[in-house]
Amino acid sequence: MKELVCIDCPNSCQMIIEEFGDEIKVSGNLCKRGVEFARRELKNPMRTISSTVKTIFPDTPVLSIRVSNEIPKDKIFDVMKEINKVVITKPVSVGDIIIENVLGLNSDIIATSNIF
Ligand code: SF4
Repeated sequence: MKELVCIDCPNSCQMIIEEFGDEIKVSGNLCKRGVEFARRELKNPMRTISSTVKTIFPDTPVLSIRVSNEIPKDKIFDVMKEINKVVITKPVSVGDIIIENVLGLNSDIIATSNIF
């Protein structure tokens, strides 16, 4: 038996997961998305990352970024290491790719703000 908090919506349902071989029984969820969340969490938990990278611009010392697609939860620290290596040296627009296909995870690091 495991306890999980569903993070698919702001309700943050606290769920109890019981495993019976390949089957699971979920309780505490307000909707069926909680069951899908529990299945993903048990087999291949994925997460999104929002963070910042450094820049050389004194007026805008950091640029906000995020991943374009969810990444495996166990790769978060590795991806953060790559993000922390970046220093922005030229103007950037929202949506620009800062790191393409980071660590081969089929997710880009993209800008979520501008630097002009
Ligand atoms: S189970 Fe449904 S209602 Fe509850 S947090 Fe997940 S998505 Fe939201």
